[in-house]
Formats: sequence, C-alpha cells, structure tokens
Amino acid sequence: MADAPITQDVLTIPRKLPEGPVNLVGLTRPQLRDVLIAHGTPEKQAKMRVGQIWQWIYQWGVRDFDAMTNLSKVYRAELAETFVIEVPEVVSKQVSVDGTRKWLVRIAGGHEVEVVYIPEEDRGTLCVSSQVGCTLTCSFCHTGTQKLVRNLTSAEIVGQVMMARDDLDEWPVPGAPKDETRLLSNIVLMGMGEPLYNFENVRDAMKICMDEEGIQLSRRRITLSTSGVVPEIERTANEIGCQLAVSFHATTDDVRNTLVPINKRWNIEALLEALKAYPRGRNSERITFEYVMLDGVNDTDADAHRLVKLLEGIPAKVNLIPFNEWPGAPYKRSSNNRIRAFANIIYNAGYASPIRTPRGEDILAACGQLKSATERARKSRKEIAAEAGLTS
Ligand code: SAH
Ligand code: SF4
Repeated sequence: MADAPITQDVLTIPRKLPEGPVNLVGLTRPQLRDVLIAHGTPEKQAKMRVGQIWQWIYQWGVRDFDAMTNLSKVYRAELAETFVIEVPEVVSKQVSVDGTRKWLVRIAGGHEVEVVYIPEEDRGTLCVSSQVGCTLTCSFCHTGTQKLVRNLTSAEIVGQVMMARDDLDEWPVPGAPKDETRLLSNIVLMGMGEPLYNFENVRDAMKICMDEEGIQLSRRRITLSTSGVVPEIERTANEIGCQLAVSFHATTDDVRNTLVPINKRWNIEALLEALKAYPRGRNSERITFEYVMLDGVNDTDADAHRLVKLLEGIPAKVNLIPFNEWPGAPYKRSSNNRIRAFANIIYNAGYASPIRTPRGEDILAACGQLKSATERARKSRKEIAAEAGLTS
C-alpha cells in the first residue's frame, strides 16, 4: 500500500481582504484593539471601546453597529463604514426526526462546511468544523475523502457558534434576567477537519467562546478531538485548556497505521506519552478515547483487552462509536452484540465505556458522515480502497 500523505499543507486566506470592510468577528481582544486604533479610535478610548463592542457582538449577538446604543451616533456610523460583523451564511438546514439539526454554511471562496447541533436531555452540543475537508486520510472517515482543504479562520469557527445561536434564537435580550438554561451548552470540535492542524484559529475562536463577557462557555464544556497530532497536544492544554478527545480506533500500530495514517508519524506509544502528560484541572476530567467499531477490523475481545492495557495510568473514558456508513465506505459496522461485549470488557476494567447512539442518521449528520456534497473534487472509490489498504 502506498503511504497515505500526511501533510498539513493547506490554503490559508488572509484574515481580511486588502480592500473592503474588516470583519470584527474572530479577532482576539488585542487584535480588536489594534484594528480600532488603526481606523481612528483614539488610543485612550480603545480599551473601553473594545469592551463595549465585544459585549455587543458576543454577549448580545448584535450584528448592526446602529444597535450599539452605548456608543455615540457618530462613532457608530464610523464603525459601520469600516467594519462588518459577519458570520458564515446558512445555505441549507435539515432537521432530523430525533431533533438533530445540520446546517450547510458558506464561507469565503464559496466553500461549504457542515455544522451539527445535537440536543440531549441535559445539554445541547454543537459539533463545529475546523477545516474544509481534512488533509488526513483516515480510511473510515467521509471527510477524509474530500480533496480540497483549507483552514477555517477564527471568524469562521466562532461564526458557526454564533450562527447556531441565531438559529436556536438563543441570544439574551439586554437587561433581561440571566437565563441559565442553555440550548447550546457544549461545543465539540468534531466536525470536518483536524483542529490541531489549524491551531491558532481554533485557539482564538475557542478563547472567544470561553470569554466571560461573551458566549461564556466553560472550558469544561468544550472538547477538542484530534487524530493524534502529538506535538500540539501540550499546547492545547497550555493555550486552550479545553477537554481532549483522541481518535484512537486501534490497539496495534499495524491496524492504526491503516485506519488513522497519522499513526505512521506519531505512533501509539508517542501518543500515549503525550496523553499521560496532559494536565487536568480536576480529577473528574478524563481524556476521551474515541473508538469506531469496525466489523472484523478492530473489534475483537483481544482488542478490548489490549486497549485496557494501553489505558493504564491515563484517566480515560472510552466512547465506542458504531461505524456510520457513507457511500463507498470500505467498512461495515460491528454487530450490536459485538459492540456490547467489547464495551463490557472495558467497563469491567474500570473505565466508562458508553456506546454512542448515532444521531441525525437520516440527514447524514452522524460522526464521520460530514462532507459537503458541493465539494466536487473527491477521491474515487479506488483511491479510498487503496488508502484503506484494500484492493478493489
Ligand atoms: N479530525 C478530528 C475530529 C473530527 S472526527 C479527529 O479525527 O479526531 C470526529 C470523530 O468521528 C473522530 O473520532 C472520528 O474518528 C470519528 N469518525 C470519523 N468517521 C466516522 C464514521 N464513518 N463513523 C463513526 N465515526 C467516525
Ligand atoms: Fe480528518 Fe478526523 Fe476524518 Fe481523520 S477522522 S480524516 S483526522 S476528520
């Protein structure tokens, strides 16, 4: 089998176009200060203006400068001439019979990415994309079959959260009592793309989501999922501080090399070492090991026992994901009995091992099914099979 490319060469677009208005969404506080000063806000006022504009954008969801009533009319008009507050545009929305929502949104360059909202009894989770497509080529993942890749900007990442709050009608009204029940209470970076290959933009966007004077989600309610970009794991702890999930999926390097080709660069041992060093704020904070159940590939009792051994010394829980099929997928989902038997072995060894119920299957919103149909350049069945180490 030819080595699957492991690369992070992606197109990056500048934060703003040289001509035209500057989007204020996605800027960090210092960046916001800089652009305000660069466009005429007096330095002495800048700190206060940043605070005011920030709150309008992220706490109240305001998109129109004219609604920023604690700024003078003249200043509002100046802002409106130079800046915009822009989030990705919704192209289409589908709602599953189980309440899951999937939006297709359009970003600069005409690219489209998918965003999924999963309502549960005690929470509502937004699954956010970090790239258009993915440079990695995990053989069971639909996103990995998309050829074209570009990193999303921080505006496009936090913009997905803002777009979802628009659609859920969840921006608080200024002056109203604080509502503690959040429809959108959790974020998972488990949509399209490898978030750790777009580190800075993901970090800046998540920092905005956590900001006390904005969207105000606790770092414990944000989970970043990585396929195992080992050198960025420590930085994730230091610079974002969110919860971590790892796409583990196999218990030997041989199998993991095929399923998650980044394993050829950083193998299981290197990955586990990085995970052991991942600091936790509290004892209850565990690393989530995601494990997709593929019939006859990684789902034996021996795999379960090996997994338990590998987890030793790591505060972990294991999320078992029944494989979600997609057109041309080279695998089948393990049987329910097999998944249950696998889960029991992990559970009996002392680790939580929930089996994830696929959500939004009827609208192709489940894990690994995301891929914008409009991205026409796609790999052929033959290429997919070759990358999976299978002959077609
Ligand atoms: N790129 C990141 C995050 C996005 S994928 C990562 O790989 O971790 C989110 C999760 O869905 C990952 O654990 C991924 O391995 C899993 N997944 C991908 N394709 C899947 C499929 N067809 N069925 C079930 N899970 C899948
Ligand atoms: Fe990329 Fe994650 Fe899919 Fe692998 S599983 S191809 S890393 S999105």
